[in-house]
Amino acid sequence: MKTTKSEEIFAAAQKLMPGGVSSPVRAFKSVGGQPIVFDHVKGAYIWDVDGNQYIDYVGTWGPAICGHAHPDVIAALHNSLDKGTSFGAPCSLENTLAEMVIDAVPSIEMVRFVNSGTEACMSVLRLMRAFTGRDKIIKFEGCYHGHADMFLVKAGSGVATLGLPDSPGVPKNTTANTLTAPYNDLEAVKALFAENPDQIAGVILEPVVGNSGFVVPDGGFLAGLRELTQENGALLVFDEVMTGFRISYGGAQAKFGVTPDLTTLGKVIGGGLPVGAYGGRQDIMSMVAPAGPMYQAGTLSGNPLAMTAGIKTLELLQKPGTYQQLEQITQQLSEGLIKIGKDAGHSVCGGYVGAMFGLFFTEGPVKSYDDAKKSDTAKFGRFHRGMLEKGIYLAPSQFEAGFTSLAHTSEDIDKTLAAAKEVFADL
Ligand SMILES: *Cc1c(COP(=O)(O)O)cnc(C)c1O
Repeated sequence: MKTTKSEEIFAAAQKLMPGGVSSPVRAFKSVGGQPIVFDHVKGAYIWDVDGNQYIDYVGTWGPAICGHAHPDVIAALHNSLDKGTSFGAPCSLENTLAEMVIDAVPSIEMVRFVNSGTEACMSVLRLMRAFTGRDKIIKFEGCYHGHADMFLVKAGSGVATLGLPDSPGVPKNTTANTLTAPYNDLEAVKALFAENPDQIAGVILEPVVGNSGFVVPDGGFLAGLRELTQENGALLVFDEVMTGFRISYGGAQAKFGVTPDLTTLGKVIGGGLPVGAYGGRQDIMSMVAPAGPMYQAGTLSGNPLAMTAGIKTLELLQKPGTYQQLEQITQQLSEGLIKIGKDAGHSVCGGYVGAMFGLFFTEGPVKSYDDAKKSDTAKFGRFHRGMLEKGIYLAPSQFEAGFTSLAHTSEDIDKTLAAAKEVFADL
């Protein structure tokens, strides 16, 4: 595989931008080797600047659920572009996307659009505190809620990948109110509520984790959190930035039948443009300015391009059979990878829900971040490199989930599994 141009561009980038990237995991630090520099993307595929083609299981970290550069999304964007890129004023496209989100996501009665998942989570945290008049929150080890100070405690993925316990620059008093518990551990949450009576504003979590690798909630975990928060006058918040419209059209809350008070969204609802959103119960959302006193604003929020890409993407997802198709493809991939890995004598485990999957290099089961850390990351790194050389682009970190799309065909999966068979044999 020739990657000369990628190497040249990345070498130049390292002098221009910290680590040569605009977001850390892209730099391939945890898997070794050089990142490839993309030239263009289409459907399930990526082409790099040297002309190599790859089957992509990152999908720009989730948004590309209909496949990259879907012709309908691109056409709608062209149309919208001619009318201008940003209004900084109300635009009817916001109503359209808001209605679609409210119709789809059980907990959302009202929604505010922002520009990223990070912004959505920061804002929802302020809202949790404003509504309850309490300062403390509970988050889970290995869950990522964007890079705001208050959440950079045991934050999984990018942070874990770099081996940073937290981050310098985050003042201790900023995280003093952030309590953490192991994922899938209801007793630990119960204990935190008991130790901090009437002080906890709420519990925030990834209802299916994608930022410590892929971890599913135990039966009863989400419902248990729903009960505990209600008993303690605290709010339950699902961070569905990754799982929203990916695990099912209504997200993890629809799939598992547990309705939180508030939800954050991002990734898929922007269809590949920068978007985030938070929403929930009307009485809580009514606290957000200008309806209420909790301040939160954004120059580019709800801009027509992002709204257009989101609307078109959700329209494509509404077509009958889309989620069956996504689940079928993902099942074929996930079950295939595990079987091939085991047949080759490796300790592997993993799973999938909807259009999201994960693979760990450990016997398992993986129910928490501590379990995830038992994965042989050096082996994962070699697996990643081997797959890349065979034209398969996986997330360059053990602690990220994988994503499929409507553009992935059964043939793409067969090719991926054939490549995996060779790579597993060489590990
Ligand atoms: C990606 C992600 C975020 C952050 O979103 P950005 O758009 O990258 O700021 C927050 N929470 C979860 C669960 C995510 O997967």
